[in-house]
Amino acid sequence: MLFPSGKTTTNLSKRMSEVPIKPPVEVKYTQLLIDGKFVDAASGKTFQTLDPRTGEVIANVAEGDAEDINRAVAAARKAFDEGPWPRMTAYERQKVLLRFANLLEQHNDEISALEAWDSGKPYQNALIEVSMVTRLMRYNAGWADKIHGLTVPADGPFHMQTLYEPIGVAGGIIPWNFPLPMYAWKVGPALACGCTVVLKPAEQTPLTALLVSKLLYEAGLPPGVLNVIPGYGPTAGAALASHMDVDKLAFTGSTETGKIVLDLATKSNLKPVTLELGGKSPFIVCEDADVDKAVELAHMALFFNQGECCAAGSRTFVHERIYDEFVQKAKQRAMKRSVGDPFKEGTEQGPQIDNEQFNKILKYIKSGVESGATLESGEKDSATRAITLSPQCSQMLRQLTVNFYKDDMLIAKDEIFGPVQTILKFK
Ligand code: NAD
Repeated sequence: MLFPSGKTTTNLSKRMSEVPIKPPVEVKYTQLLIDGKFVDAASGKTFQTLDPRTGEVIANVAEGDAEDINRAVAAARKAFDEGPWPRMTAYERQKVLLRFANLLEQHNDEISALEAWDSGKPYQNALIEVSMVTRLMRYNAGWADKIHGLTVPADGPFHMQTLYEPIGVAGGIIPWNFPLPMYAWKVGPALACGCTVVLKPAEQTPLTALLVSKLLYEAGLPPGVLNVIPGYGPTAGAALASHMDVDKLAFTGSTETGKIVLDLATKSNLKPVTLELGGKSPFIVCEDADVDKAVELAHMALFFNQGECCAAGSRTFVHERIYDEFVQKAKQRAMKRSVGDPFKEGTEQGPQIDNEQFNKILKYIKSGVESGATLESGEKDSATRAITLSPQCSQMLRQLTVNFYKDDMLIAKDEIFGPVQTILKFK
């Protein structure tokens, strides 16, 4: 069977040998949000957003491209230049954001269910994320009236001061692994400052951005202040990054795309860009560590959110004296991990986001094994199983003893973005 996008499917629902649980939510919003209204894409095109459990279509979503980005930026520009948002008192802006936070709380279950459905993360985790987003919105609301300039001591009879003003139209491009926290981190601060926003959510997870943005308008946001354009990176994303009338861009995603986005911003209007990119973080276990505790912490550091986490502890370095014990215990812990339907109680880990990501992870595992790593646990062909790798190539270990960073195995260098724990020995 093929995914509609043409990718081969792994039919995870069959692997999970359970009928997928029906998510307790309906999809209400699938259009672009421009100038406070839901509208179709100018091209009339749509794309499918898929259930990561099964590859089945959740909804057809309006597919924004350059023309829609133009419409959204024009609405945001008008809202910034002529609308009330940057002109109202900071206290008034704060009240809108606080009302939004209350609405998030009221719709907590609905938003969490939609997020778990679209992203594959356990429903329980999505609930925690929505509470976190609610809190973030209150935090940002609190900042609205506390953004102060400085009075600077001047030499001579001068008065010197700094004044912070909203920059204008802010563009945001976000990834699929934490769709709502990413939304909050981009939209919250920009709105609190009085900017207007055009946001492009990830094509894998467009649904919750549309739902919560509707709530933001219900909370009293004036038209055009926030515009949401679902669509693909090289079309909608690139159009936003290179737009001449976007004053600032905030991007979170892969390092590779970050470089493209920075280039597009540079070659257009030199807009300032904030980049939050990929990672390959070490988790170091010294010889005097409590091994059981270290195993549990290292497990969480890597396997959390299906391993789809920019800050994952994805290089686990363990001292040689406790290495074998650690590997055995880490393996046991990984195999105990409860992997399955995100809507089933007790599930610690859902499916990977899509087949592309799944296949990328399998390629890394294969490359690890080919370059001398030992596959300690996990089913090689299942995206939903926890997988532990321990590289035991003696040549590599010698290199590690001298210098970790000379390690040239791909699995020890690249961000895998999946549930693959590489356990490296050091002395
Ligand atoms: P990605 O770079 O493929 O996509 C991120 C966003 O960029 C998506 O909205 C995508 O549509 C858009 N995009 C893709 N190509 C584009 C282009 N040519 N021009 C403009 N926009 C484009 O990343 P991903 O696979 O969705 O997310 C995973 C990556 O994100 C990982 O590397 C992860 O580490 C990183 N990430 C970083 C953080 C952080 O805070 N540092 C947080 C979460 C994820």
